[in-house]
Amino acid sequence: MDACLTVERDVDKVYTKFQQIASHTQKTLEELIQHVKGISNELKEAPEDSELTPAQSLVVSQCTKKMKDSASYIGSNHKDLHSSVSKIGKVIDRNFMPDINALGQESNFDSPEKVNLINEVICEHFFRKGMLDIAEQLIDDAALQVDGTNKEPFIEINKILEALKARNLQPALQWAQIHREQLHAQHSSLEFKLHRLQFIELLRGGAANQQQILQYARNFGMFADGHSKELQIMMGSLLYLRQGIQNSPYSHLLDPINWLEICDVFTRDACSLLGLSVESPLCVSVQAGAIALPSLLNIKHVMQQRQVSGVWSSKDELPIEVDLGTDCRYHSIFACPILRQQSTDHNPPMRLICGHVISRDSLNKLISGNKVKCPYCPVEQSPSDARQIHF
Ligand SMILES: [Zn+2]
Repeated sequence: MDACLTVERDVDKVYTKFQQIASHTQKTLEELIQHVKGISNELKEAPEDSELTPAQSLVVSQCTKKMKDSASYIGSNHKDLHSSVSKIGKVIDRNFMPDINALGQESNFDSPEKVNLINEVICEHFFRKGMLDIAEQLIDDAALQVDGTNKEPFIEINKILEALKARNLQPALQWAQIHREQLHAQHSSLEFKLHRLQFIELLRGGAANQQQILQYARNFGMFADGHSKELQIMMGSLLYLRQGIQNSPYSHLLDPINWLEICDVFTRDACSLLGLSVESPLCVSVQAGAIALPSLLNIKHVMQQRQVSGVWSSKDELPIEVDLGTDCRYHSIFACPILRQQSTDHNPPMRLICGHVISRDSLNKLISGNKVKCPYCPVEQSPSDARQIHF
């Protein structure tokens, strides 16, 4: 953070300097233009073919000198500014540790297959964001074999989201009606929320829409069971149709936040229905990496100082536990109660027949003879009865 502030201070200095030079240059040039215009007008008034008087010729030569001086002054200012700007690069280098390569594993990118995989992830990210032309270009440039069916769901979702952002509910409503059963199975209230928003938009129009509003209310018949409370509020708001909803206790219905919320609800429900993650895996990875990087750089530094850097040899695992915050928690993890270590692919959780779970390493350590005694209950059992658990 300190490094950011130092760089920001230097950038501010250059920016102030830039503004000063820009306004000064502007002023000098305007004055010069006025001056030259004045001389030019004076010369125009003189009869044709007449020679310059000595006074006029003096004025012209003084003006030329002034222009040359100003040009060289502006030039030197520009040069000065240029060197200040280039110093910013050095300030950034000085303040940020560029040695993040030490944390990476070169073998991550060393084969064409892996590079291909990374390109595919980047490509999928662009599809997700609706940047179709960039994604297509990447497919061409990197000669990727991307199945057309991969991008279709993203294109559809993005089209609907664009429409929602433009406050057009129709494409989303059509989508929700087509997928009604699947949405219902995952307890989604997307369709109701879309109809509710359409109803609110009609309310916004006031008494002039009365007929239309009553007509539209028929759509809510099928939602009566699950959303009675919300329906009561919507019907209650009709009492204030004439005086205007915005001046009534129901004014919260018109809150623009409803539109932001519907975009979130749609994205979440549509992604879950299509078996996609809500957030782009690439964004999440970069975000997690950025959060973890300072701790990893610190531990690396400490390890080097104490000359124990060889300890971190297995790069599939982190040398310390890094807390990425609740946003980055996606699934349950298991920490062995005996060894007090998080389980890994090589040391997975094992369920004993009594129902207690310990890691495989603990299980192996507890075997005596051909039996193992559960450290908790303690039921004696055969180690081969233990079953691996997958989270
Ligand atoms: Zn047990």
